[in-house]
Amino acid sequence: MLRTIIAAVAVLCVADGVFMSATPKADEISARARKLHFASIVVDTHDDTTQRFLDGDFDLGARSASGSIDIPRMKEGGLGAIFFSIWIPSKITGPEAIKHALDQIDAVREQVRKHPKGIVLATTAVEVRDARKQGKIAALMGVEGGHMIANDLSVLRSYAALGVRYMTLTHSGNDEWADSSTDTAVHNGLTDFGKDVVREMNRLGVMVDISHVSDKTFADALAISKAPMIASHSSCRAICDAPRNMTDEMMKALAAKGGVVQINYHVGFLSQEFRDAEKADPKINAAIEHEVTKRCGDNEACQLLEGDKLTREAVEQGKLPRIGYEKIIEHIDHAVKVAGADHVGLGSDFDGANMPYGMEDATKLPLITEALLKKGYSESDVRKILGENTLRVMSEVERVSRDLNANNKN
Ligand SMILES: [Zn+2]
Repeated sequence: MLRTIIAAVAVLCVADGVFMSATPKADEISARARKLHFASIVVDTHDDTTQRFLDGDFDLGARSASGSIDIPRMKEGGLGAIFFSIWIPSKITGPEAIKHALDQIDAVREQVRKHPKGIVLATTAVEVRDARKQGKIAALMGVEGGHMIANDLSVLRSYAALGVRYMTLTHSGNDEWADSSTDTAVHNGLTDFGKDVVREMNRLGVMVDISHVSDKTFADALAISKAPMIASHSSCRAICDAPRNMTDEMMKALAAKGGVVQINYHVGFLSQEFRDAEKADPKINAAIEHEVTKRCGDNEACQLLEGDKLTREAVEQGKLPRIGYEKIIEHIDHAVKVAGADHVGLGSDFDGANMPYGMEDATKLPLITEALLKKGYSESDVRKILGENTLRVMSEVERVSRDLNANNKN
């Protein structure tokens, strides 16, 4: 969605001001929550920080004054594993799409190579746990949009060989083989080739990600996939009526086949009030988009950061409502009630969307543990939501891959 692309991420310099006063500070986290949080493996399945890597002067190892993610802040917030998104807009296709995807995969791998003490590439659940044992953050990759394989399964296989462990079947626009939730349906879900893509992902051990896809694409993928699927960054449609969010029925069906919905923190997916305000006065977003283009041109990283800054300014000016991080907890709790505590996780959309107040960056993650404990969640359920559910799905996807290769039926 253009809106999500342009209006982006959390910027701390604003957040430390008057708007933060009602939100508990990190040092207000209870000893119990702190202990549990830092003893857990916290996994985030969707971060758009990759766009910043392409910018040249961004260093993942240094604490940045902007954006949400860098190694020092991930450590401070106890984030143990992060999926860096390999993303380009749906309109870029063919060889150009492949070139961009490979550049981004290389950029992630280069950041990992440059910071061997802090972060290590992981491609399996066991490698995530090993990274943890070494005191390092696990870096993983997900391709956000099936258009990046350019209708070629050999490209999918190459991405998998380079370490990509999930692929979102579409982004905001349709692929040539799958419908998106934010485009006009033309395929009635997955085409025959789209079904082959899902089968090949199963064989390769690449998780099928159904965030962004249409409801019919979701249903088709669920019927075809032999492995549990994830929604890497989606929230609950029952609370916020965005087509990108999942209905209760979808979450139940995903859970019935062992999958996980990873709650997205973007305010436009969390809050109906925010969504309604954007819709009521389209001039607000149009003005933000105009200013972003003026400031950034084609620079995606710049667009993400400036878009968020300008959106926060609009909130401060009272043009858009102020949404707090408690809304994330509301979505987690709803998803748990619908799908069960074994089927919910975290997919922030950090550095790619508008974060709610109180969840400006990775340092704020212990607030989620604190809030869930306060709601009466057991420590075991909190651990699952923080990351164990995702690791379970990864292990299961790996097992299915091994079985399919052993049977050699594909
Ligand atoms: Zn997305």
